Amino acid sequence: MAKQPMLKFVTVGRDMPDKRTAEERREDFQEIYAEFAEQKAAEQAGRCSQCGVPYCQSHCPLHNNIPDWLKLTAEGRLQEAYEVSQATNTFPEICGRICPQDRLCEGNCVIEKSGHGTVTIGAVEKYITDTAWEEGWVQPIEPAADRPESVGIIGAGPGGLAAADVLRRAGVQVTVYDRYDRAGGLMTYGIPGFKLEKPVVMRRNEQLEAGGVTFVMNCNVGETIGFDEIREKHDAVIIATGVYKSRDLKGPGAGADGIVRAIDFLTASNRAVNFGDHVPEFESGELNAKGKRVVVIGGGDTAMDCVRTSIRQGATSVKCLYRRDRQNMPGSQREVANAEEEGVEFEWLTAPKAFKGDPVNAVVVQKMRLGAPDATGRQSPEPIEGAEYDEPADLVIKALGFEAEELPTLWGQEGLEVTRWGTVKAEFTSGKTSLDGVYAVGDIVRGASLVVWAIRDGRDCAEAVLSQFDGASAIAAE
Ligand code: FAD
Ligand code: SF4
Ligand code: SF4
Repeated sequence: MAKQPMLKFVTVGRDMPDKRTAEERREDFQEIYAEFAEQKAAEQAGRCSQCGVPYCQSHCPLHNNIPDWLKLTAEGRLQEAYEVSQATNTFPEICGRICPQDRLCEGNCVIEKSGHGTVTIGAVEKYITDTAWEEGWVQPIEPAADRPESVGIIGAGPGGLAAADVLRRAGVQVTVYDRYDRAGGLMTYGIPGFKLEKPVVMRRNEQLEAGGVTFVMNCNVGETIGFDEIREKHDAVIIATGVYKSRDLKGPGAGADGIVRAIDFLTASNRAVNFGDHVPEFESGELNAKGKRVVVIGGGDTAMDCVRTSIRQGATSVKCLYRRDRQNMPGSQREVANAEEEGVEFEWLTAPKAFKGDPVNAVVVQKMRLGAPDATGRQSPEPIEGAEYDEPADLVIKALGFEAEELPTLWGQEGLEVTRWGTVKAEFTSGKTSLDGVYAVGDIVRGASLVVWAIRDGRDCAEAVLSQFDGASAIAAE
């Protein structure tokens, strides 16, 4: 009888790929996890119990066929595992690296619930597609036949690129416009290299270009080219512009020099360190933590990226202020643990009340406590009267989350409906907006979300655009 490669969770413990030591990690911007060795990947994949109702799959936004590619990996059939994995995910190696798996697939793995430790789904997904790249199984798109229709996509982040991939595979003429010089959106300029090394994103951009997707970079729609002009050029338009307007700080001194936005700080770091670009604000020290006492305000994943970037840039101290406690923070616990290992200090239940000096030299910190639960059941933080102190700081980074820009006003599109949060109103399943032939996907629809959700939106939207084209050709043929 053939050897049973699965259901090993009772005898084989959960194991992640090796993590580099904190001392090593502090010195560079490379990813912190090594790759699984082949045998280790097979062994870890073999822990899966092949559930009849796989909760991992239902909690993956892409509904990836996880049990199947785990089984194929355990059997050493890696090319087939890759084929299954890429059938539902445009960028499996990217999701494997940066999805918050503890809140999605792995957090819902049945064997995790039974106390055996989750199957390391993300690490296996990354391993499969990294191997596929190494082996040359990932090839440029080659549509069976070209179609005459063209689609203009505004925004080269994961939402726009996922749509571009599906449409191009179907033979559609695709043009992606982006205001930046490199494609990838926040995968390129927001997320630091220690979570997602940049060559991993760049090779995807190159693959799309080699497959016939046209990129028009340094093209800020609304400035370089009008939205109406793009609409005239294409049979359908997809808006995938993301959200970039940061929530701001209030309080005396909040406008002082030395108080900067997380996105500016991270973009400067990604450009200067990962791409070697000339970034005057990084070189002048304005957006550089080297030799500074850094205070980061916020408790989400962006705040975690800022504290860990500051450490790597050579800050003398890095503190993170968050108004709730550790259990109630929005950021991933795995990232907090990584940050602590690297030397970040967390000051839970604290909020900035004012800022001293211009340039800033201290944050007046208000101590908080958790009060009664609000309507959602979450305890609201409230100030403890008289409990405040000065926290010395030379650089304060605001990482309080993002909100949508006033996009329709910007583009003068009266007919493009928005929500009261300033996001574009679109059908979740298709991305259709109130303007005929105009679709929207990703963060500009959901608000600040995740790469995996932007991919899902992009793929769904591309299918809806193809249905629009097929419907139009059917009518024309009647
Ligand atoms: P974006 O990635 O924002 O791409 C939008 C693109 O549109 C950009 O390239 C922009 O230049 C372009 N654009 C905007 N306006 C115009 C215009 N007028 N004309 C032309 N081009 C325009 N998610 C995860 O899943 N895991 C993580 O670990 C993670 N970490 C994050 C860390 C940080 C610091 C940040 C900020 C976000 C993080 N996210 C993470 C969230 C994730 O990056 C986003 O949800 C995702 O990138 C959204 O994809 P998108 O395609 O909608 O938009
Ligand atoms: Fe898990 Fe994300 Fe991969 Fe889905 S895409 S299986 S949620 S890591
Ligand atoms: Fe395997 Fe866990 Fe998914 Fe079940 S829930 S199929 S054990 S990965």
